Amino acid sequence: MKRKAEGLSAEERAVVRLPEQTSALPKGARNLFDRIYRVNRTIGRLNPPEAMHDWIRRHFGSLEAVERQTIVKITNQVTLEEALFNELRASRPVETRRSGDLLQEIAQSAGDPFCHPLEGTPEDVFGRIEGAHSITASNVAKYDAYHGLVVFDKHNPLEISELAVRDYLDVGYRWAERALKADPEAKYYFFMWNALWRSGASIVHGHAQVASTQGAHYSKVEHLRRSALNYRLFNGTNYFDDLVRVHKALGLALSYQGVSVLVNLTPVREKEVLLISFSLSGSLAGAIYRVLDCMLTQLGVSSFNLAIYMPPLSQTPEDWSGFPYVTRIVDRGNPAARTSDVGAMELFASPVTTTDPFRVIEPLRQRFLR
Ligand SMILES: [Zn+2]
Repeated sequence: MKRKAEGLSAEERAVVRLPEQTSALPKGARNLFDRIYRVNRTIGRLNPPEAMHDWIRRHFGSLEAVERQTIVKITNQVTLEEALFNELRASRPVETRRSGDLLQEIAQSAGDPFCHPLEGTPEDVFGRIEGAHSITASNVAKYDAYHGLVVFDKHNPLEISELAVRDYLDVGYRWAERALKADPEAKYYFFMWNALWRSGASIVHGHAQVASTQGAHYSKVEHLRRSALNYRLFNGTNYFDDLVRVHKALGLALSYQGVSVLVNLTPVREKEVLLISFSLSGSLAGAIYRVLDCMLTQLGVSSFNLAIYMPPLSQTPEDWSGFPYVTRIVDRGNPAARTSDVGAMELFASPVTTTDPFRVIEPLRQRFLR
């Protein structure tokens, strides 16, 4: 008999059973969960006409599954991030195939300007930063005074290695240090990585982007800083520590050499993984690599976004104490799909999510064991 620490076995755990799982938590963890999250579970009902019955059975297994649908709304009361899960969608198996057409399309786009960055891309006014696997370029159409690219030596954006990820982070950080030297006000550094069209990447060739802004951090980073600060003032504890504790108690987190890896309960897009660390160097690159490798080989991901939130590079008026390095990674769906994964709901209300976080943590756990 399997030990049921959370009241339910690993196979039984599901986002739609979150109320049962949280009520089975030890009191401390339960209180912490209630402090951060609010969960609303409701049932959607409908009456399908006879003519639709066969179609429904074929697509959803049974009539009952569609006639009564469980919907869970999870709200992070600290940040007001929220996610809606529908049991019908969340219970579907994770699609892991990648089409051969995609790899062919990637290969066919080789020979682009990023394949020869020294001639194909401009350099920043302070020159280029070069690493073993990447080189920086200045972004042609900037969205900030300091906005550059980390151009990977690999054309295929889905071909990654731990050494290369370490190099991208290192080259990006050296770029930010150079930007700060050029302009001491460019203190707020942001690292982001879009892979393939669905993620917003306009160029196929593997690359990340770096930006350093002034005055205050980008608003979503600043929002998280303020939320965490309010949390500490109100509760006396560090928000990120408590977030990790809650995810651990629910079986949605693992540790890798000091980096906490969480499957976010309120994912902004599919399969969001958060990595919380106290440095940009050290084991973060290894953790990012393992998450991406698991997503690309086990979780059917072909297009993703990654971003790193971090404190400014030098002294600022705001209180950043206790703010860690927060890496966010999301799946952006099948590159062959024409429908966007961002509709009015996601833009203006709350993200509707298909993948159950409890289906993401197990493959991740397996990947980190290797
Ligand atoms: Zn290329």
